[in-house]
Amino acid sequence: MPKSERDYLLELWTKNVCPHCGKAIPEGRRVGTGDKSKGGFCSLDCYTRYYEQELKERARRVAGLAERHRKS
Ligand SMILES: [Zn+2]
Repeated sequence: MPKSERDYLLELWTKNVCPHCGKAIPEGRRVGTGDKSKGGFCSLDCYTRYYEQELKERARRVAGLAERHRKS
């Protein structure tokens, strides 16, 4: 995993935002491996779909989300 994707996933974890759909994750509902650098998701569906994507596609999407939430 490229360093940047890992950093973005950590950032979104901190902000409680799902890296796949960009929605806020409801309290106590985070889905993931428990490893922050692998991300936390709002549902098992998002988790599965996220990891079905090609690495390049994922990194771009996550970077976009992190950027959007940095501005808001
Ligand atoms: Zn989601």
